[in-house]
Amino acid sequence: MEAIIDIKNVTKIYKVGSERITALDGVNLQIQKGEFCCLLGTSGSGKSTLLNVMAGIEKLTSGDIIIRNKKINKMSENELSIFRQKYLGFIFQAYNLIPSLTAMENVELPLIFKEIPPKKRLKMVKEIIRAVGLTGRAKHKPSQMSGGQQQRVGIARAFVASPEIIFADEPTGNLDTKTTMEIMNLIKEMSKKYNQTIVMVTHDVRIAEFADKVVHIHDGKIIKIEEKSIAE
Ligand code: ADP
Ligand code: MG
Repeated sequence: MEAIIDIKNVTKIYKVGSERITALDGVNLQIQKGEFCCLLGTSGSGKSTLLNVMAGIEKLTSGDIIIRNKKINKMSENELSIFRQKYLGFIFQAYNLIPSLTAMENVELPLIFKEIPPKKRLKMVKEIIRAVGLTGRAKHKPSQMSGGQQQRVGIARAFVASPEIIFADEPTGNLDTKTTMEIMNLIKEMSKKYNQTIVMVTHDVRIAEFADKVVHIHDGKIIKIEEKSIAE
């Protein structure tokens, strides 16, 4: 099977003053379509850097990131933003919702960028709002919702346009254990239903248990990859 994400010998060095910090040190990794992949490691191990170079948010120092057979590190900013709109979704630890917009309006945003007509947009938004269990909160603004509810909005926004790949950086980092498990089950259920690929950063082994593939990262290197059969 051809990997949907193929990371080839990726290195990332940050320069801070005269200091050089090797955040990624020769990383090779393949992620298959429909796979739920967790990047697991302690703070400072390079997880977020790996996710960010994978999503084209950070430039790499050397190597290649190939997504859907395209080298994203060779794309222009314009090509990248079109690529992101078409194929990628994002879930953030701090939710990153727009405070002045309601839950529904926040979820609608990616569809507006994709120029989906209003009537179709509304149908898609209503459907995903129901799927994440927020029907009663659709008109609420972020400040009128709990952390768990805000992250449900974040998930709805990431999933609404059915992207093939969803990147998530510690998406339950600000939530209590019970809400964390609910949110993790929701992400897993939705991604499996539509055969979407998830790449999630976490330092929490309990969250890594949701994954098909757990990639252990230490000092910018992959030290171990654990795979469960996708069929189970
Ligand atoms: P993690 O997400 O696993 O906590 P990061 O990927 O954020 O780790 O960081 C990996 C290493 O790179 C750390 O040593 C961190 O201090 C360094 N780093 C991350 N971002 C930057 C940056 N913008 N400038 C300089 N150093 C950075
Ligand atoms: Mg991080």
